Amino acid sequence: MPELWLPGVVKKPIPQGANDPLIIPVGDVFHIAVSEAASLHDFFERSGGIESTGYIRRDGTIEQYRPLNVECDAQGDGNSWVRDGKRYGLNSWETQGMGEGEWTPQQIASIKFIIGWKHRNYGTPLRLNPGPNASGFGYHRMFKQWNKNAHSCPGSDRVQQFHGVIVPWMKEQAHPAKTPNITAILRAKTREARIAAAQKVASRGSSEAKAAAHDLLSAMTALHRAEQARDAALAALRKLERK
Ligand SMILES: [Zn+2]
Repeated sequence: MPELWLPGVVKKPIPQGANDPLIIPVGDVFHIAVSEAASLHDFFERSGGIESTGYIRRDGTIEQYRPLNVECDAQGDGNSWVRDGKRYGLNSWETQGMGEGEWTPQQIASIKFIIGWKHRNYGTPLRLNPGPNASGFGYHRMFKQWNKNAHSCPGSDRVQQFHGVIVPWMKEQAHPAKTPNITAILRAKTREARIAAAQKVASRGSSEAKAAAHDLLSAMTALHRAEQARDAALAALRKLERK
């Protein structure tokens, strides 16, 4: 099994309880803590068997409380299930904040980090979980089997962020948009052809290619203006020479 602790997180282990079997982690569920505490570690230690795999503070700091292969009890039937004699489960991440409101940009970045890392290291598919006992990434209220007392967790604004930001990002990661022809920029024979090719890449390339194409276009514009200014100055000098 790959690493059981994410890299760069604050480790605050909560001992495995009698009700926490080992699992094969196949996905992640995101929650809202309805708390502004900087950590949920002490709360979970006293909670009598309720806990999450980790916690994401508003500033993006990630605390991890359990190795990824130990069940945590935060999402009903999504905590773990047995299929063909193996126990699978979903890791759970609480996030700092109250019921309503959005995840901060730093929390969104940390959610993407967790998803990307789990995809690369555990092979979790970059998709919404298609069912309550299936691999993927989701949020607490996505299935009633995960959310038996019908909480609104993680709140409507964050659900909107999940569908509006996280899901499109997962799609983009799974099927990166084909970069329009960079070679056409590099091989262009005329200034016009180079500009046309750079404009294509600037409008629908990967974010790195877009940035480079934008840089090229503004450099070419500046260069063009400088050449015009040079020509005007030379013309003025020629006029003076003839006087
Ligand atoms: Zn929740």
